[in-house]
Amino acid sequence: MAQRILITGAAGFLGSHLCDALLAQGNEVIGVDNFDTGSADNLAHLMGEARFRFEELDICKPFDIGAVHGVFNFASPASPVDYMRLGIETLLVGSAGTLNTLEIAKKYGASYLHASTSECYGDPEVHPQVESYWGNVNPVGPRSVYDEAKRFSEAAVAAYHRYHRVNTHLVRIFNTYGPRLQANDGRVISNLMMQALRGEPLTVYGNGSQTRSFCYCSDLIDGIVRLSKTDEHEPTNIGNPVEWTILECAREVQKLIGVEGDILFQPLPQDDPKQRKPDITKARRLLGWEPKVMLREGLEKSLDYFKACVAREKNGRQSTAA
Ligand code: NAD
Repeated sequence: MAQRILITGAAGFLGSHLCDALLAQGNEVIGVDNFDTGSADNLAHLMGEARFRFEELDICKPFDIGAVHGVFNFASPASPVDYMRLGIETLLVGSAGTLNTLEIAKKYGASYLHASTSECYGDPEVHPQVESYWGNVNPVGPRSVYDEAKRFSEAAVAAYHRYHRVNTHLVRIFNTYGPRLQANDGRVISNLMMQALRGEPLTVYGNGSQTRSFCYCSDLIDGIVRLSKTDEHEPTNIGNPVEWTILECAREVQKLIGVEGDILFQPLPQDDPKQRKPDITKARRLLGWEPKVMLREGLEKSLDYFKACVAREKNGRQSTAA
């Protein structure tokens, strides 16, 4: 049955892909965003769509867009560059913002799905990370504005289920990439792709032996939509468990783009996790879900988008110089 759904953070990378997926299933979608880190470009293709409505608003202030069947809470700065620049805003959106959206779900009896993160595991001592692991987070370090806000959000979501019986879902998202990822927000894939396409040396932090696992956006959205239809309230990891060192990933990007450029090694940022790999046993069992797009294919699918970003940069520079 078609539903009326609220998506917060709709103008962001994942929020906009989620709008597409839920509209494609025949639903009516109301997207909200304050454009802190998102872009109207990500929603431009939906502006003629009768079942889509957009409202520019900050979810940290109470709001009401009318009755909905489902709430997907994706609003939050997400890259280290963004959340360290917007530290207080990140704490607020992960606390007041989450509570405001939970109130909407409670008021209208809507289901609720919160975009949580592998950052809840911090710099993990358990590998791969399984949902039952409570994490190793520095509560006062530079990343804490994000990690602790996300952990607070998880507590709030669990409490609204426990005290108010809201049908809540918690997805712990591991590194996800694809078209519409902000070009210059310092995330691994966008950084490497943009640098390689500009013909610059690729930046690798530390000696590049730290590992990450990279999930392509369509796989992630598929897992999230499946999770939203279950009765599972405990956190569920969604990510691609194939583990890459950052150096291997940089070499893969160079191979794809056909450049051999240098690698520039930079000091490791404080509290940078040494390894990240989701244990997706639960998602496989519960959702019958499995990532399908491996790194090489996902990079190929993202290439045109990053090429367009580099071209826009060049045009911008030319028009400023003119
Ligand atoms: P993004 O920055 O592209 O999108 C976040 C969106 O939220 C932006 O459009 C931003 O403007 C909006 N926003 C921020 N504060 C807001 C506020 N107060 N009111 C309304 N809108 C607000 O990031 P993304 O990668 O699409 O991440 C989406 C969600 O998924 C975030 O909650 C993030 O923590 C989570 N997540 C993403 C990843 C990933 O790899 N992309 C990994 C783990 C978790």
